Amino acid sequence: MKLSLAYLASIATVGASRTTCSKGRTAAIATCCVWYDVLDDLQTNLFEGKCGDDAHDALRLSFHDAIGFSRKDQSKCLINVHLDGSLIKFADIELDYAANEGLESIVMAERDLADAHGVSYGDIIQFAAAVSVRNCPGGPRISFMAGRPNATKAAVDGLVPEPFDSANTILARIQDAGLTPEELVNLLASHSIAVQEHVDPYQHTQMSHFRQFQIPPFDLTPGIFDNNFYRDTLLPGFITPGSTLHSGQVLSPFKGEFRLQSDFALSRDLRTAGRWLLLSLDPFLMASSFATSMAKMALLGQNPGILHDCSEIIP
Ligand code: CA
Repeated sequence: MKLSLAYLASIATVGASRTTCSKGRTAAIATCCVWYDVLDDLQTNLFEGKCGDDAHDALRLSFHDAIGFSRKDQSKCLINVHLDGSLIKFADIELDYAANEGLESIVMAERDLADAHGVSYGDIIQFAAAVSVRNCPGGPRISFMAGRPNATKAAVDGLVPEPFDSANTILARIQDAGLTPEELVNLLASHSIAVQEHVDPYQHTQMSHFRQFQIPPFDLTPGIFDNNFYRDTLLPGFITPGSTLHSGQVLSPFKGEFRLQSDFALSRDLRTAGRWLLLSLDPFLMASSFATSMAKMALLGQNPGILHDCSEIIP
């Protein structure tokens, strides 16, 4: 009986320390409550709870915003901030960059969400990316820290790696942004739930018009966060999914699967091939490594002292 009373007392204490948010949900930190409302809005009005195009775009946006930073050229950044939401705040500038083609819709949608709920653009980008991964079966939970200040300066052009870049160019760029070759490979798990859109724009437009799921993905299961992407990239390629090969595209192993030149190069480069092979064999390591590297990327250049942990809001 003593034990039972102690147990009940401990529950009461824990319960009292949590803040009640909307719809009876609770949070350990009161300022995290707003993210329940953002989550409802995001899932209902944008993602529709699916691992679809908008979810894929949200993940892509997080990379493009985070990578717009250079350590060696400080003129290309402001106060060492990576994922700062500059792609939303300065959309009129950054959406004109070639590498950001196709991000218009998700940028506008996330801007409206952030404005409606009074959260920062850097936070909404990271939050939406973490939620998008959870909508895909097999997707890991990524921690979410809130409280990033809004960007005060646009990123410059030329910082986002392109699919036609060499492994040397991409690895140098990634290192300059503060990530290791191994972390780059970890992050490319995102291609397990991604489709090509602008390497072959004609094919994307045609496929979108007729049947959404036929937009060429980077593996044959773009709705599932699995390690097929790593495995497929290691296979020999002999098929052209569209009418011809485009800049940044190489031959694919399967009809309906699109292979980026950059993925092909990194899967065979001595600096990244070992990690690539390992992840192709171990889906659990792939999922945990992706979550760890995403969390690191989201915090690079940020001041942890002003952020608060709202990870519990991620589904
Ligand atoms: Ca997949």
